[in-house]
Amino acid sequence: MVLVLDSTPAPENAAQTAAPAAPRPTLAGLDRAGLSAALAAIGVPERQRRMRVGQLWTWLYAHGVTSFDAMTDISKDLRGQLAAAYSLDRPEIVTEQISTDGTRKWLLRLPRRGHEARAPEIETVYIPESDRGTLCISSQVGCTLNCSFCHTGTQRLVRNLEVSEIVGQILLARDRIGDWPAGAPDGVEIKDTHLLPSSERKITNIVLMGMGEPLYNFENVRDAMLVASDSGGLAFSKRRITLSTSGVVPNIARWGEEADTMLAISLHATRDDLRDVLVPINKKYPIAELLDACRAYPGLSNARRITFEYVMLKGINDSLAEARALVRLLAGIPAKINLIPFNPWPGSPYECSDWEQIERFAEVVNRAGYASPVRTPRGRDILAACGQLKSESVKLRASQRTAAAEGL
Ligand code: SAH
Ligand code: SF4
Repeated sequence: MVLVLDSTPAPENAAQTAAPAAPRPTLAGLDRAGLSAALAAIGVPERQRRMRVGQLWTWLYAHGVTSFDAMTDISKDLRGQLAAAYSLDRPEIVTEQISTDGTRKWLLRLPRRGHEARAPEIETVYIPESDRGTLCISSQVGCTLNCSFCHTGTQRLVRNLEVSEIVGQILLARDRIGDWPAGAPDGVEIKDTHLLPSSERKITNIVLMGMGEPLYNFENVRDAMLVASDSGGLAFSKRRITLSTSGVVPNIARWGEEADTMLAISLHATRDDLRDVLVPINKKYPIAELLDACRAYPGLSNARRITFEYVMLKGINDSLAEARALVRLLAGIPAKINLIPFNPWPGSPYECSDWEQIERFAEVVNRAGYASPVRTPRGRDILAACGQLKSESVKLRASQRTAAAEGL
């Protein structure tokens, strides 16, 4: 992890320094209701709002524009009013790191809210592969759960992300890797090219596998995924969006009904006594209840399987007896199994299973009919792999205190 420096200058003469103007709220990332409310707030009459929302939608999500000036079918007057009240800002980039394998990780700073002492930070990761490009996005700053093998779990929950902050991660990633249709955002020609065929897109898949437990920020994550999958804008197929949960059982069926994306379950153990330790939410919702919720997941079929994630921890959950137990446990559920080599982080209490053991484990799983289940770790050199994400907000405060104490 690179050391992240706080770019906020120290207020030397706080009493004399004029308070900085409050930043204009961004429209980028809002859903239709949010855009409509923003238009109402600057006096756009109700009868025009639907049409205006439609225009904004195309500019924001089909073309990716970053300036109101580019919105040529909106009158100059209204563009001026919008620009005076709002911005089209994406989350601020603190650092961008590119791994030797092409994986990119952004540390992003979000606007401060209410009495937050400092701006919260989150991470977003882009993983290019030969046949797809996956964007791994965060749903919360930190996490309330503390799975013992997960770096994010060592950071307390700071807050839930807003809809615009979740969608903002997608917009920012498309900006940075040049994934908007040719011509946008600066060339303002409107053509039907705004829906790039998926073969030409760099980001083809979205996984909610970054920081946080997405089912504990249900409404915002749902509304954000509805923006992401809207066919007149970002146009991600719901089949290419996957929500990963540690097992918030009461929200699983509801997610299927209201958001209808693919589902991944962080299983990681086949017995309750071990899962209680690895994924402590298991004490509340044990394995049998979790699997019942999976069986009842709306739309489940062989064409729409649930992915079960299983982190390979040396000597903890990686025996062949456990491989067989895993296969027995999932019998009858249309499932994929994803074996994840454990990604270590500073101070982590586990080791990754030996590669030979992972292969033996995979063979048992393969023989039971589950294909190529091992997930290659990506971006390990920049701590961008599964479970390595953690923002430095808390640590930074500590280092700032030290710096202050040393008179730096
Ligand atoms: N909170 C959600 C989604 C984020 S975690 C969840 O727990 O499912 C995304 C995936 O990474 C989960 O399967 C999680 O168990 C796994 N993971 C966490 N820490 C890991 C680590 N250090 N090594 C490998 N996988 C890890
Ligand atoms: Fe939270 Fe998921 Fe990490 Fe568990 S694995 S602490 S639920 S982010």
